[in-house]
Amino acid sequence: MCSAPSIVWLRHDLRLADNPALQAAAARRAPLIPIYILCPEEEGVWIPGGASRWWLHQSLASLQYELKERGSRLILCHGKALPTLEGIIEDVGAASVFWNRRYEPSSRTRDEAVATALRRKGLHVATFNASLLFEPDSITTLEGRPYKVFTPFWRACLRQAEPTVPQPEPQTFIAPTAWPKSLKLATLGLEDRIDWAGGLRSAWTPGTMGAVRELNRFLDVALDAYIDDRNRPDRLGTSRLSPHLHFGEISPRMIWHAVQSRLAATSIDTLRHAETYLSEIGWREFAYYLLNHFPHTTEQPLRPDFKSFPWREDAVALNAWCKGRTGYPIVDAGMRELWETGWMHNRLRMIVASFLVKDLFIPWQQGARWFWDTLVDADLASNTLGWQWTAGCGADAAPFFRIFNPVKQGETFDPQGTYICRYVPELRRLPNRWIHQPWKAPKEVLTAAGVTLGETYPAPIVDHAIARAEALRAYKYLKSIS
Ligand code: FAD
Repeated sequence: MCSAPSIVWLRHDLRLADNPALQAAAARRAPLIPIYILCPEEEGVWIPGGASRWWLHQSLASLQYELKERGSRLILCHGKALPTLEGIIEDVGAASVFWNRRYEPSSRTRDEAVATALRRKGLHVATFNASLLFEPDSITTLEGRPYKVFTPFWRACLRQAEPTVPQPEPQTFIAPTAWPKSLKLATLGLEDRIDWAGGLRSAWTPGTMGAVRELNRFLDVALDAYIDDRNRPDRLGTSRLSPHLHFGEISPRMIWHAVQSRLAATSIDTLRHAETYLSEIGWREFAYYLLNHFPHTTEQPLRPDFKSFPWREDAVALNAWCKGRTGYPIVDAGMRELWETGWMHNRLRMIVASFLVKDLFIPWQQGARWFWDTLVDADLASNTLGWQWTAGCGADAAPFFRIFNPVKQGETFDPQGTYICRYVPELRRLPNRWIHQPWKAPKEVLTAAGVTLGETYPAPIVDHAIARAEALRAYKYLKSIS
């Protein structure tokens, strides 16, 4: 037993259960001070976007409530991490600082500097893995190099010891005799764009309770059909856990073991769905693994030959894409879902990203930036992987010459047009036959449905067939010079 307080520096681990830093601090049986420091300037160029900030506000509020219920507090600060921590350490006479590791390049650099400075001052500093199933440095090829292909990477992960069983939350939170000063949550200014938040509020319940509810909903009603439904944006076929995972309201270990317990109680058929689901969690691991080993990929293509790709600057087309006004209903539905709810189905993310990169020729980095600002699950690792994968320039990426046809994608994955009608209401009265390509509908059909192309709904901003041919020519050129 030690009486000097311990600080737990919380970041992307906003939960009490399965939180190894919190657990280790509580095990010292000393006063425990949980702290959150808002320091966007230390995130490099990837300062959290509007939707992320909204989520963070709700998540901090929820954690504050949970800690208060247990006789503890969440101390909120705003500023650079090291001087903020040093100030609090001095105020309360803390002897140790605990945190869970982050893997984004700027956070890693910052964390190393903080750890070194605190240790030099004689503090005990301990860091843990709370957000991944497997530590990125522990998985390498036989030659000791990082994997660049998902399947052998994931096989290598599955050969490791099974992820440890999640820890329960600490039993006691010992309060210090005097708490350090805390800012009020509202003064952090995270909800500065409230005009936009109405849709987010009705779509999500940030916090650990919302995460557990979403996980249970998925296990109860969607896991058994995951392989068939995961590509259908018109169905609730995925777990929607991505923002909860990003903010650490739930850990991948908790998900892994919840799926395993479910498996123990169900049929063999569930196994193949569960394996596919866990391999998606594996893609998240792969994204962090790549970010850890190739940190430059947040800005630069992993395949250097793509640096010479003849991208175009086209502010008008970019704006039409962002606003969901490209004239391709499935693309527009995806972009409007993003704006309205802060989230987009994975199939749609692939469709809209392919459209931006291969139909409009706009650099993937510009799409990644828009996603960064508007996604509640904006995550540097997964966003970078997703965009590089779609653009054909990343690890294990879709070959550039495989170009999504937005009409066929819509017909295959939203056959009744249900998803389109949800987000593009001006097309609701159009018969199913024309919903994916209204520009081909006879004039009288459009009139009867109240659609005037170019007025009530845009005409296509590009001709997909022409854009496709052009993209293939550009790719051929790229191959010829590399
Ligand atoms: P489920 O199908 O239920 O999968 C469970 C979990 O597995 C997800 O919550 C997620 O953590 C992980 N996962 C699933 N698919 C992927 C994938 N392809 N890559 C990495 N992890 C995956 N995901 C983010 O979390 N943040 C992002 O910023 C992000 N940007 C993307 C950008 C593009 C262009 C693309 C194509 C994909 C992006 N993804 C991103 C990955 C994926 O679209 C989302 O993780 C998924 O849609 C989240 O929905 P879900 O939780 O219902 O997924």
